[in-house]
Amino acid sequence: MQTIYDAAVIGGGPCGATAAQKLAAAGHSVALVDPGDRIKPCGGAIPSRALRDFDIPDQLLVAKAHAARVIAPSGNTVDMHIGDVGFVGMVERESFDPFLRARAEAAGAHRIAGKLVAMEEAPDGTLRLTIDRMGDDGHGAKHTVGARLVIGADGANSTVRRLTFPARSKPPYVFAYHEIVESPSDANPLRFRGDRCDVVYDGRISPDFYGWVFPHGDRTSVGCGTAIKGHNLRRATSALRDRAGLTGQRTLRREGAPLPLKPMRRWDNGRNVLLAGDAAGTVAPSSGEGIYYAMLCGSLSAEAVAACLATGRASALKQSRHRFMRAHGRVFFILGIMQTVWYRSDRLRERFVSLCADPDIQRLTWESYLNKRLVRRDPLAHVRVFFKDLAQLVGIPAGQK
Ligand SMILES: Cc1cc2nc3c(=O)[nH]c(=O)nc-3n(C[C@H](O)[C@H](O)[C@H](O)COP(=O)(O)OP(=O)(O)OC[C@H]3O[C@@H](n4cnc5c(N)ncnc54)[C@H](O)[C@@H]3O)c2cc1C
Repeated sequence: MQTIYDAAVIGGGPCGATAAQKLAAAGHSVALVDPGDRIKPCGGAIPSRALRDFDIPDQLLVAKAHAARVIAPSGNTVDMHIGDVGFVGMVERESFDPFLRARAEAAGAHRIAGKLVAMEEAPDGTLRLTIDRMGDDGHGAKHTVGARLVIGADGANSTVRRLTFPARSKPPYVFAYHEIVESPSDANPLRFRGDRCDVVYDGRISPDFYGWVFPHGDRTSVGCGTAIKGHNLRRATSALRDRAGLTGQRTLRREGAPLPLKPMRRWDNGRNVLLAGDAAGTVAPSSGEGIYYAMLCGSLSAEAVAACLATGRASALKQSRHRFMRAHGRVFFILGIMQTVWYRSDRLRERFVSLCADPDIQRLTWESYLNKRLVRRDPLAHVRVFFKDLAQLVGIPAGQK
C-alpha cells in the first residue's frame, strides 16, 4: 500500500529544507522532494540574525563582510561600516542547500530525489503527487507519493503554485543575473575587498534595481537585476566587473533567476496546499534579500501545517502568512516604496547614496537588516531619518535641513 505522509514538502532550498526539518523534528512523517542537482543562483548574503535563528554553523560561511560600499552614478562612494551590531555572512548555495537538506533528513524527513510534475486530490481529500524521480543515470521514472498536506517551497517558478493557483496570482519579479568569478589575490582595496559588499546604484547598471559585488572567499558573485525587458544584464555585469577590477578573473558560472518581490495575497488554497518562500513571493523589495525570509517562511509554514494536522482545520494554514506579514509586512511595504522612489532616476540614486553617509541612517539600516527589527531605543533617530529622507527627496541641500 502507498505511504500517505502527513506532509510533502516540494523543494529543498532554504525554505523547504527548514520546513521539512521542523515538521520531522516534531514527529510528523514528511517527504522532502527536490532534484538535488541544481545550484540556486544567489549572491549568498545573509544577516547575522539568520545564524542565530536557524542554527547555521559558522563553518558554512565562506566570508564575512563588515562594511558595504554604496556607489552612485557619478562614482561618488559612501562606506557604511557595520561596527558591533553584527556582520553580513556569505554562504555558497552549492554547500548551504545540501547541508540544510541533510539536516532535514537527519531529523527524520524522507528525501525523494525528483521533481513534482503533477498533483491531484483523491476522493478522501489526500493529495497524490507525481514525481519525476532522478535515477543514478540522471534519467527519471514516474513515482507517486501520497500526502495529507503539501508545502510548495519550490522557488520563484513554483510548480505547486502553477498547479494550484490562478496564473494571475504569480508575484511580480525582477530578473537577477550574476557571474561567479575567481576572487583576485592581489586586489586594489579601492576597487575590491574580500570583507566588503559593494552595491552599485546606477541606471546604466540597472534602470530599476541595483548591481552588486559580493565576495565569497576565493570566489565572488557579481551581478544585477531588472524588471525591464531588453536591459542587457550581461553587459551591465561586465561593466561591474570592470569597475571592481575583476575583468581578467576566471568566470566559473553565469546564471540567473527571478526575484519575486511581493508576497502573494493568499498562500494557501483553503484545503491542503500552502506556498512558502520564493513560491509565495517573499523576497524583500529594494534589497532582494530572500534567504532569511525563505527560512522564516519554512519555519512558519511547518507550524501552520502542524496546527492543521492537530486540529483538522484547514484555516490553520492561514497563520503562516498572517504571522509573516505581522512581523515583516511593514518593512516590505517601506522597502517597496523606497524602491519605487529612489531607484527611478540617476538624480534620485545620487541623492540616495548621499543619504547613506548619514550616521543615523547607517545605524538604522544595519540594525534593521542584520537584526530584523526596527530599533526603538532612539525614537528621535527615526524622526531625523524621516526628515533627512524628505529633504533629499525634494532636493534641499544639506545645510538647510
Ligand atoms: C542572482 C540572485 C542573487 C540573489 N542573492 C541573494 C542574496 O545575496 N541574499 C539573499 O538573501 N537572497 C538572495 N537571492 C534570493 C534567494 O536566492 C531566494 O530568495 C531564496 O533562495 C529562496 O529560497 P526558497 O527555498 O524559497 O527557494 P529556492 O532557493 O529557489 O529553492 C527551491 C528549491 O525547489 C526545487 N524545485 C524547483 N521546482 C521543483 C519541483 N517541481 N519539484 C521539486 N523541487 C523543485 C529547486 O531545485 C530548489 O532546490 C538572490 C536571488 C538571485 C536570483
